[in-house]
Amino acid sequence: MEENKEKNVVNEEQETLPKGMILCKTCGAKMAKKAKKCPSCGAKNKKPIYKRFWFWVLAIIVLFFIVKAIKRSGLDVKKPSAKLTADEIIKEFYEGEEKGESKYKDTVVAITGKVGAIEEDYIRIDTFASLSTLFSIHVKPADKGDLTSVTKDSVITVSGICNGKIFGGIELEKAIIDSSFAVNPDYNSAMTVPIKTLMQAYKDNKVSADAQYWGKTVEFTGKVSYIADTSDYIIIVPEDQDKSLDSLLDGIEVYFENEADFEKVKNDANPDALGSPKKTVKVTIAGVCYGEAFGYDAQVCRAKVK
Ligand SMILES: [Zn+2]
Repeated sequence: MEENKEKNVVNEEQETLPKGMILCKTCGAKMAKKAKKCPSCGAKNKKPIYKRFWFWVLAIIVLFFIVKAIKRSGLDVKKPSAKLTADEIIKEFYEGEEKGESKYKDTVVAITGKVGAIEEDYIRIDTFASLSTLFSIHVKPADKGDLTSVTKDSVITVSGICNGKIFGGIELEKAIIDSSFAVNPDYNSAMTVPIKTLMQAYKDNKVSADAQYWGKTVEFTGKVSYIADTSDYIIIVPEDQDKSLDSLLDGIEVYFENEADFEKVKNDANPDALGSPKKTVKVTIAGVCYGEAFGYDAQVCRAKVK
């Protein structure tokens, strides 16, 4: 009780103190707020730590890292919050509004793509589209043993913690390989589109064509006009397209999901040394449209022969 009374007295006194004056915490004497020392007892006049600017800056920084660490420690690579293809995530990070960083950084994502390279401590996963090779996914596996289980050019799905953008792409760490998270083309409910319509859409306007077809599984019919034996793709053109110089670079570039489909088309068409088919082969293709192709109208990846 005695103590309380004393405190009250001090408080009352402090309220009636002239502006800029405080009471010494050690002896209770009045002194200027800005004084370095109490003029009466000589005790240092320190601001309480919580009143210091740097204390709060530091506290906020520390809190930020604690929250981040808690958030990341609770992440389970077996429970990805998003499943997408390498092409889709690269697009989110590097195109348009570039929402990737805010959407996926410090979250678990599963990414399906093509193994581009296997290095000492990471796997590089490339996009399916041949034109976006500027960016790739840099994958650090949780278990380095996984590096030996993958083969170049195969399609794999990895799930890991996204570290956001790095030079040349995005990074995933503590990753596992798990095909149950794979994003695969829906071949059975593909969007059927006449090949001429698809080609014309890209000739007319790439942006609006992308809005309509990019990332969608499309199905179209045409004939094989070229077989690129060294890079495993074929060119499909409308059945009535002639071999004039005008139409030399018209067509859809097709990359197959499985090597076997490419081999079958190649065998059926029996190409000459220049890649021109000796036999006319009509095919129906289903695959994912990934926009314009270098030299041709559009590219369709992950394709299969229907
Ligand atoms: Zn004092």
